[in-house]
Amino acid sequence: MAAQNYNPFENAQAQFDKVAQMLDVEPGARELLRQPMKEVHFTIPVKMDDGSVKVFKAFRVVHNDSRGPAKGGIRFHPHETADTVRALSMWMTWKCAVVDIPLGGAKGGIICDPRTMSQAEQERLCRGYARRLGEQLGFNVDVPAPDVMTNGQHMMWILDEYETMHGQHFPGMITGKPVGLGGSLGRTEATGFGVVFTLRECLKKMNLPIETTTASIQGFGNVAEYAARMYTQLGGKLMAVSCWNQADAQAYTFTKATGCDPVELAAIKDSFGSIDKQKAIDLGYEVLPGDAWLSMDVDILIPAALENQITPAVFDKISSQVKVLCEAANGPTTPDCDELIQKAGIMLIPDFLCNAGGVTCSYFEQVQCNMNYFWSKEEVLQKLEAIMTKSFCDVYDLAQQKQLYMRDAAYVISINRVYNAIKVRGWV
Ligand code: NAD
Repeated sequence: MAAQNYNPFENAQAQFDKVAQMLDVEPGARELLRQPMKEVHFTIPVKMDDGSVKVFKAFRVVHNDSRGPAKGGIRFHPHETADTVRALSMWMTWKCAVVDIPLGGAKGGIICDPRTMSQAEQERLCRGYARRLGEQLGFNVDVPAPDVMTNGQHMMWILDEYETMHGQHFPGMITGKPVGLGGSLGRTEATGFGVVFTLRECLKKMNLPIETTTASIQGFGNVAEYAARMYTQLGGKLMAVSCWNQADAQAYTFTKATGCDPVELAAIKDSFGSIDKQKAIDLGYEVLPGDAWLSMDVDILIPAALENQITPAVFDKISSQVKVLCEAANGPTTPDCDELIQKAGIMLIPDFLCNAGGVTCSYFEQVQCNMNYFWSKEEVLQKLEAIMTKSFCDVYDLAQQKQLYMRDAAYVISINRVYNAIKVRGWV
């Protein structure tokens, strides 16, 4: 169901332009905010285990840092593009602003496939990324984090290289680190749990008890797994999970009439979020084509894998039973679907609000690192829940007051905060 013709950066700009027009943002500010402030494109030569040298193309993009140091993950993906990284850096700016944390927006990426690389090759790649960017990273400049196909181990290699270069410790220069090495308790769960904190508030507003609802989810990586765990813990019934199968180079949907159990599925998935097909069948799951997750008769759809998954071309496959679209992934819906979602009366929890739990907890990690004092998991998750709940309610209330589409209401809040920062700083 991929929609390769969609350019995520053009999508991000179209979303911004619509609300900037509505808010009457002045032309200079609009020009500044609709593109990144800084982009670095570079190559990283890596000595491979077989003695050959492979050159990887890499990016770091800072969209806007008027509200604080730039913040954003690093993705490893064979199809990574500069435009994807640009779009994601822009969404990071809006994401930090909508939950009102004092950070800007950035993103990084390396065109590579870690699934086909050894640990040693990945380590050399991460160290090369840190060396090439050097002073452009830092706790008060630009702070990376894990994203698609990167994890705490990758962050530690980057941190270790950076600290070796500087001869000092800087644990706040990167987040998503392992617990005990500067990582925050609760970070692993944060994005997925945050998704469900917003979903829970949304269902309350809609007078739908969560334990009476059903959901279908795309992806079973970090975000999807923990969203699935929290959703089922709160009593929701998970009807389907779709994920990529590297061996077959295609996606599959796993379903079970009695409901999917995220705990048992997590036990049979690999570190890239692929569920073992045979083991799932042995556990009583039915295996359907990858896009079947989208047409399930459920109340809630949770795209939690990649961008551009919900397009007008597939929109009519969505069941009329669907009441909530909970955008756990970044940019899972193309802008030309927004009108269709509104017409269908589906409640939207927009991506940069829905999945902001990850960056919120990364912010907590930085705060804890910078004061060298670490909180309990309960304290982290309580603070996360408070921020996600308040942010959802702020967006929902504005949408109700001004009769706005939820995505537009979230943009109004974010753009106003960033617009104010660039004005007060005297940039425009
Ligand atoms: P991940 O790499 O851990 O998992 C990705 C999942 O998507 C895997 O289960 C993979 O099998 C699945 N997938 C890939 N292609 C697919 C396809 N065609 N059909 C079905 N499934 C497919 O990634 P993640 O960290 O869980 O991130 C998922 C999304 O959430 C991304 O859009 C990411 O940018 C966004 N996000 C992540 C975080 C975070 O903290 N990890 C924070 C905010 C947003």
